[in-house]
Amino acid sequence: MTALKDRLKLLIAANGPISVSEYMAACLFDPQDGYYTSREPFGAEGDFITAPEISQMFGELLAVWAWSAWSASGKPVPSILAEIGPGRGTLMADMLRTLGHLDPSFETLTRVAMIEASARLTEIQRGKLEAGRARPTWYQDISALPDLPLVIVGNELFDALPVRQFVKTPRGWRERMVALDDQGQLSFAAGMSGLDTTLLPSDAADAPDGAIVEVAPAREALMDTIAARIAKPGGAGIFIDYGHIQPGVGDTLQAMRAHQFDDVFANPGEADLTSHVDFAALAAIARDRGLETRLMTQGDFLVRMGLLERAGALGSNCDAATRERLEGEVQRLAGPDAMGTLFKVLMVAPKGIVLPPALATD
Ligand code: SAH
Repeated sequence: MTALKDRLKLLIAANGPISVSEYMAACLFDPQDGYYTSREPFGAEGDFITAPEISQMFGELLAVWAWSAWSASGKPVPSILAEIGPGRGTLMADMLRTLGHLDPSFETLTRVAMIEASARLTEIQRGKLEAGRARPTWYQDISALPDLPLVIVGNELFDALPVRQFVKTPRGWRERMVALDDQGQLSFAAGMSGLDTTLLPSDAADAPDGAIVEVAPAREALMDTIAARIAKPGGAGIFIDYGHIQPGVGDTLQAMRAHQFDDVFANPGEADLTSHVDFAALAAIARDRGLETRLMTQGDFLVRMGLLERAGALGSNCDAATRERLEGEVQRLAGPDAMGTLFKVLMVAPKGIVLPPALATD
């Protein structure tokens, strides 16, 4: 039994059930035993591998995107290039290396900001980036960023923010709670009080008993903060995550541990806990702030940004084993059976800013 599981059981026994979002927030960010506070999640020895950890090409193409977005915004000076939720710092390291080649002036004209909630991961990122020429500044919270034009990147950020779940019961919709069962084990239960159903997606009205819907106020609030900063004084944002383009009914809460799905109650604080991102909801928030949005699959985005050409360039003059590795990376990032379709890319910018990739001509 994990230390956090013990504490959560005591808390629920004393105070009653907690919401799924409170459970998720405790599992991920409990100051003592939370997953991001205390564990090393990434890589082969960790629990999951993210796109920047799979291949340098991911960060290289995002660097091209970020430079183009800055350029399309009129190359404002000073401005900020930020990453939110940078994990091990690999994506920003790949981006800065590429930007240095692409446009050496970019580095002197823009400030680099890393927005990271976890003190432990901040230290890892500092170890990787602090000595470089870009000299990033770290912020624990986006609200502390200076008010400047902002080009911001976030990979697998939103899935890590807590989600609320609601369950349809014969007495109407109820918040889905984490309670204790007869044996004193963590289990789901329907909350007691009724709900304001305007919170729910429109197709929830016809859902059968037992149906579950997810709403993520924490994700929407963060998107709103980011969108407000891009609306004025300008910039652009790109957010990549697994999720769906159309909102819908369904339970997507999942735990991952050592690259396997885990029971969501088995190892609180020692397994990653996420849910799919509702991209339509995030895009709507950005549009409410006056921004334009583009949404596409990760495979589509990367291929249209030049993934195949980049792999070809990296592979030229290399041995067969390297070319095979690069081909494998392309497959994992963009293949429909790997991350290519499940992962989506949401881009936001003020009206009239033309972002890459160019509109398809065929
Ligand atoms: N982008 C990285 C890591 C993804 S994991 C990659 O692709 O490998 C999620 C990251 O978001 C972690 O670094 C976590 O600590 C951070 N995080 C979660 N909520 C955050 C918030 N509100 N603000 C900033 N960082 C946050």
